[in-house]
Amino acid sequence: MTVRHSAPRVPAKKKHVPVKRDGSIVIRGADVITMNERFDVAKLDIAIEDGRIVGLGPKLATRGADMVIEAKGLVVMPGFVQCHIHLCQTLFRAQADDMVLLDWLRERIWPMEGALEPDDMRAAARLGLAELLLSGTTGILDMGTVRHADVLFEEAARSGIRYVGGKCLMDVGQGYPAGLRETTESAIDESVTLCERWHGAAEGRLRYAFSPRFALSCSEHAMKMCAANARAHGAMLHTHASENSEEIELVRERSGKSNIEYLHSLGLTGPDVVLAHGVWLSAEERRILRDTKTRLAHCPSSNLKLASGIARIDELLQMDIHVALGADGAACNNGLDAFMEMRLAAVLHKVRGGPTAIPARKALHMATRAGAQALGVEDAGVVAPGMRADLVMLDLHKPHVYPDIGDLTSRVVYSARPTDVHTVMIDGRLIVREGELLTLDVNKTLKDARAAARRVAARVS
Ligand SMILES: [Zn+2]
Repeated sequence: MTVRHSAPRVPAKKKHVPVKRDGSIVIRGADVITMNERFDVAKLDIAIEDGRIVGLGPKLATRGADMVIEAKGLVVMPGFVQCHIHLCQTLFRAQADDMVLLDWLRERIWPMEGALEPDDMRAAARLGLAELLLSGTTGILDMGTVRHADVLFEEAARSGIRYVGGKCLMDVGQGYPAGLRETTESAIDESVTLCERWHGAAEGRLRYAFSPRFALSCSEHAMKMCAANARAHGAMLHTHASENSEEIELVRERSGKSNIEYLHSLGLTGPDVVLAHGVWLSAEERRILRDTKTRLAHCPSSNLKLASGIARIDELLQMDIHVALGADGAACNNGLDAFMEMRLAAVLHKVRGGPTAIPARKALHMATRAGAQALGVEDAGVVAPGMRADLVMLDLHKPHVYPDIGDLTSRVVYSARPTDVHTVMIDGRLIVREGELLTLDVNKTLKDARAAARRVAARVS
């Protein structure tokens, strides 16, 4: 018998979900925020073929294109990429508010997560994906779920989003409901099986992230095996770290180390690792993040609402630590809106760091290009030939973003809203067109979410 938790394995065959691209597309006359190194903003045409941008310039030829999108007056920019999301918590919105983190987890979130059955998980995923796609998010790193992780991958594949996620591991700790209890062996074995099934599926839009929930919910053995298996499969690692001061004290009690030193000692640092939060970091921990090129997901709404603290993102950026953004979950935020996180990231750090702490351009960079890079997708997050056509088009002809003579990046960062999203494209495939979500029936999604939320609430009570 193969003892799968004891050794990394080589990937086996993958499950591919076919995706239909929309052929060749020319977007004409848009105001393009390129997010290239010069932060160029210009009125340009964009030509797309086989899911990639193949031309960018004024007055591109449209002959032979399968589709021409007249975008005069619209803004085109890279799609948002959010590097810390909990799709499985979307049904819990407004059911776990105004609590401190560890109580919030033990008393509300874990019981509800443990009560999710596959149909509920599907409803939660669809609800979250509908919200994300309609508000311009084209890629996510998801913390997954202890059980039924297949459902998240299936729904991500159907929705068209770029999805990196995995089974959440919780093999030690107390106070978990029956639905979340698992052994170390089963947690690792199931993670490896899921990785082999989904990593690279849907033409590469789905990728796997080994996802130990946080230091307190995982054994050292599980964490080390996650790191070893992630590297053997070329997958990512995703965990929560240093979100809350009580959490880091408990980690020190257990390991004798600071949280980041502890994760570092187990292999959970590096450019393939995304740590959510990083609110409480010592100077030595910051040096470890910088030297190992570990990526951080800043979740300002969640940190504020759970009163976890304010991460010193301006200082981390000055140290050249890679920071992306994430909305976290609908149970702690209470939304999945990238505009909100981007605006908060831009304004929050000015309180301590001054008005230049995180300028609008930097906030937009964190929300787009830095997110794609943190997901390991180097060929997304910039509007340029050769890059993937993961794009968002905004309609800013509205009172809250007018007049139209100011700095376009500032209008997007400080004033734009999810309702300004006009079109969303992922890998050259139209996902949202003129505000309509093409891959999910929104009315059915709401109806199913309503029923599922009631089922889960009844089970928990
Ligand atoms: Zn989280």
